[in-house]
Amino acid sequence: MIQYVSNTGGGKPVDFETAILDGFAVDGGLYVPETLPKVGKEQLMKWKDLGYVELAFEVLSLFIDRSIISEKELKNILQTAYAPFKKEEVIPLYQLKTRSQTYIMELFHGPTISFKDIGLAFLVNLINFFLERKKEYLTLVVATTGDTGPAAAYFSAGKSNLDTWVLYPKGLITEEQERQMTTLQHANIHPVGVANCQEGADDLDLIIAKLYANQSFKDKLKLSSVNSINWGRVMMQMVHYFYGYLRIVDTVGEQINIAVPSGAFGNLCAGGLAREMGLPINYLVAANNRNACLHRIFSEGRFSKEEIIETASSAIDILIPSNFWRLLYFRIDKDSEKIKNWIKEFATTGTVTFDKKTFEKYRKGFLSNSSTDKETLDIINEIYTSENYLLDPHGAVAVVAADRLRVQLEDKKVLCLATAHPSKFPSVIKQALHTTVLPKVATHPSIETAKELCEKVHLCDHKYLEKALIHAMETNWDLTKEK
Ligand SMILES: *Cc1c(COP(=O)(O)O)cnc(C)c1O
Repeated sequence: MIQYVSNTGGGKPVDFETAILDGFAVDGGLYVPETLPKVGKEQLMKWKDLGYVELAFEVLSLFIDRSIISEKELKNILQTAYAPFKKEEVIPLYQLKTRSQTYIMELFHGPTISFKDIGLAFLVNLINFFLERKKEYLTLVVATTGDTGPAAAYFSAGKSNLDTWVLYPKGLITEEQERQMTTLQHANIHPVGVANCQEGADDLDLIIAKLYANQSFKDKLKLSSVNSINWGRVMMQMVHYFYGYLRIVDTVGEQINIAVPSGAFGNLCAGGLAREMGLPINYLVAANNRNACLHRIFSEGRFSKEEIIETASSAIDILIPSNFWRLLYFRIDKDSEKIKNWIKEFATTGTVTFDKKTFEKYRKGFLSNSSTDKETLDIINEIYTSENYLLDPHGAVAVVAADRLRVQLEDKKVLCLATAHPSKFPSVIKQALHTTVLPKVATHPSIETAKELCEKVHLCDHKYLEKALIHAMETNWDLTKEK
């Protein structure tokens, strides 16, 4: 039986289904598998030619007991989840012409055109599968820096056993991202635009934590979360590391580097865990914009919260990379007591400075960079002008980091993760390309369609959010609970 435990040590081990449906562990920690399965070279060789969905089945099977989801059920869930993706291969790759051995992994061909579709396509379908089987309902509440919200809303829309509330910081995400959420007309989707968020989406996470702590409310509405703290997302995101690796190596066993635009560290944590399992990754590169929490962690050994800066890569304007605690747990031999104390220290002082031994332990195999908007825009322009390939601002942050760290990457192949389609960020693209007219590659039919649809949205000021949200959610629940 594969068991899941809290990385802060509280509660009892639970099975996969419980870990997924609970979101957070009972003690507020993050669920992790009790042991990470190992994947050897032989296994990787057998997986070499699998398509994305077939590979996902193999990787996920290492984490899910067949008694919880049968082979057939897991295959079905995966088929349903990735059917709406626009490319047959789900995740295409592009080799840059202007750089040696550098590949872009396009994680944005899902229905809401960001990499959040990858994790949420699976997770939301999985949750609904569990709920249908148990004949139960759940209310999902998520906060978004612009991309989680659309993906969570899209995959929840019309699902029989789910009600989904998505909170976004009004004015801090693009209008295109906003419309992806507000133009869904389904009765079970509730976008909430929150004005005056001083610290972006981190503010909203705080309110969600308060809703969770409100036990009677939580029990009544059966709250859960599909934020990147949910194990299901991290687990699913491991698959694209295996997939990208197998696509670009000449021989299995060869080491490659992977650069990842990072905010909450969910994506990169998955990469770190894939490497712990045995995937031959040389360096993982944490690519930050000027909100450089991860860069401080990996270059200075300091986890600290600073003022938020609005940047051109707004989806990674995040101050607290919560999933770092998940990776750290494995790096320090699962010492949950230490994790618990650091989290407490961070909550009270806003800073944790790691001792030298811990720093050395976790930073092995990681590099990091913090890029300015100018560097990000320049690289979008350079690559578009020289090889007619258009990066979005987040993919660009990864390429800036790869360029900057090229020498340390030791002539090995570099895979840069591109996490969004450029059409979600039209004003940044215009600025980067010094034009007022977007090229066709910077547009997307789904974004164009959403411009012509009615918006359906709740609006609220951050000051009143907790109370207002409880009122709205409770009213909705009371009006619809005979369902
Ligand atoms: C969410 C997001 C990221 C960051 O992913 P994390 O898992 O939070 O580190 C990067 N790019 C885009 C476009 C995103 O939406």
